Amino acid sequence: MIRRAALAAGLALLVLVTGGCAGDEPPPRRVLDYPPIPVETTVTPSASPTPPKTGKPTKKPATRGTVGPLNTVRLTGARGVALTFDDGPHPEWTPKVLDILRRAKVRATFCVVGVKARKYPALMARIVREGHTVCNHSWNHDLQLGKKTNAQIREDLLRTNREIRRAVPGVRVPHYRQPGGKWTPGIVAVVRDMGMQPLHWDVDPADWDDTSTPEIKKRIAQQARPGSIVLMHDGGGDRSRTVGACPQILTFLRQKYGIVRLR
Ligand SMILES: [Zn+2]
Repeated sequence: MIRRAALAAGLALLVLVTGGCAGDEPPPRRVLDYPPIPVETTVTPSASPTPPKTGKPTKKPATRGTVGPLNTVRLTGARGVALTFDDGPHPEWTPKVLDILRRAKVRATFCVVGVKARKYPALMARIVREGHTVCNHSWNHDLQLGKKTNAQIREDLLRTNREIRRAVPGVRVPHYRQPGGKWTPGIVAVVRDMGMQPLHWDVDPADWDDTSTPEIKKRIAQQARPGSIVLMHDGGGDRSRTVGACPQILTFLRQKYGIVRLR
């Protein structure tokens, strides 16, 4: 049984790493309104998650910690992995990512930038309507936010949450993710004080960096482990390679670990 599962996972990896996307052409777009998506497992990550029980040794030794820098959230706390998309919403790429997620009946977390939430409120509404989780990613993708005072950091995050909720009244924003992962004790303290979780990641394919579609798929497949939080991008540049990688990545991760939604 285990050998068969391992063989299947190996084959899936082989297909993922060597295969192109030709077989994954999306079906014709449905003109229907958004159908309800069956609710899958949801998890609430904590900063000190229990290491996932895998039942068998993971492929890689646990060289990465169970928590991220400054005790941020790095893993889901369950076996299932979570998908996160940063730097949107973007009028071209976000709908494509949402289409793929909807077809796969998978929910993800969108780490949105305040100025873009202000510009694209309809996209914000669609993200929430289709059951995804919203994460604050600062007002204007401020890599240097940690150099500001705690009061300024708080104002940046509050302003972003206000803009998100102007587009989607009352929506929960349970997480904050610092652009560039440049966490500081001040940022983490403000985030926690505001009742949010500082959301880091475990798998980074560097899809923002002109990485090819096959390479994005390969990196995610190789880095993923039980409970991984996968960092990808639906904004901030040409995301066609990320979009191209998504269908097979979703299939692979779901078969091997399951995909959970962060709450
Ligand atoms: Zn970002």
